[in-house]
Amino acid sequence: MGIKKVAVIGAGTMGAGIAQICAQTGWETILYDAFPEGLQRGMSNIDAFWEKGIARGKTSTEQKLQWAANLSPIADLAQAVKDCDLVIEAVPEIIELKQEIFREVELYCSEDTILATNTSSLSIRSIAKVMDRPERLIGMHFFNPVPIMKLLELVKHSETSDSTIEIAEAAGKAMNKTTILVNDVPGFATSRLGVVLGNEAIRMLADGVASAKDIDTAMVLGYKHPMGPLALTDLVGLDVRRDILKNLQQSFDDDCYAPHPLLEKLVDEGRLGKKSGLGIFDWSSGHPEETNLPEF
Ligand code: NAD
Repeated sequence: MGIKKVAVIGAGTMGAGIAQICAQTGWETILYDAFPEGLQRGMSNIDAFWEKGIARGKTSTEQKLQWAANLSPIADLAQAVKDCDLVIEAVPEIIELKQEIFREVELYCSEDTILATNTSSLSIRSIAKVMDRPERLIGMHFFNPVPIMKLLELVKHSETSDSTIEIAEAAGKAMNKTTILVNDVPGFATSRLGVVLGNEAIRMLADGVASAKDIDTAMVLGYKHPMGPLALTDLVGLDVRRDILKNLQQSFDDDCYAPHPLLEKLVDEGRLGKKSGLGIFDWSSGHPEETNLPEF
């Protein structure tokens, strides 16, 4: 089955990026969000990304117009997923929310539509268990920023069909991503290591081991990481990482995954990272700058 039409559910950090690359791949792409301001922000972010590309000479206005013509915002879920070959969900990391969306999406899609979740940590099977056609569900875990990151982690659960895997692999290739296929273990191959490193870096910051910048520089220059674990946590979103840690803590029944109290405090204060302008760092200049941290 060749993919022609795709819907992305959730227009936040990830959903907007996924919709952008789907439109760039040449697919008719629908972006949906439950909140009008979320949908508007997602569309604006995609436009800003393309405009920046033009300003830097990486793309042309003509190319942008072609991509933009493939992309439409739709504020009604039934209409958004109608006639789609692939539906990719990227709403917050809350299992009940994802289950509710797939239950509803199934009602509006054909039996052949491939359904994918961009969850970073939830068991795919636990989402699929509420579905009528669980064999059509697969994890399609993209990385942030989606248009730039090469990896696409595909996660199959016990009932994901071979044809679903084949189509997801072909879709990843069409999007110019390198796919890996991973079994349905919480945190998969990537998130588990990523959040543990970020959480430990926050613990070290809270313990006064070094400044945020110096902890990050340790990993960038000492271990050749392209970005420090604290800046990366800000980029991913502190709320997103806190939710992943909580899911791992619950799934493995192991408090080694408990979010550090400083992380909880920052999220409670609305310091969500780059997307809110303030997280562990201050991002108001566009770059991570050292800033005061709250008592916790
Ligand atoms: P986000 O908070 O930036 O965006 C979520 C979007 O979903 C928002 O625009 C919100 O309005 C919308 N939304 C909320 N409820 C909805 C509903 N019922 N129906 C439709 N839209 C709804 O979150 P994000 O960072 O884009 O994360 C989304 C998913 O992607 C999560 O499962 C997360 O774990 C995963 N993920 C995140 C990253 C990352 O770096 N942020 C990386 C990989 C995977």
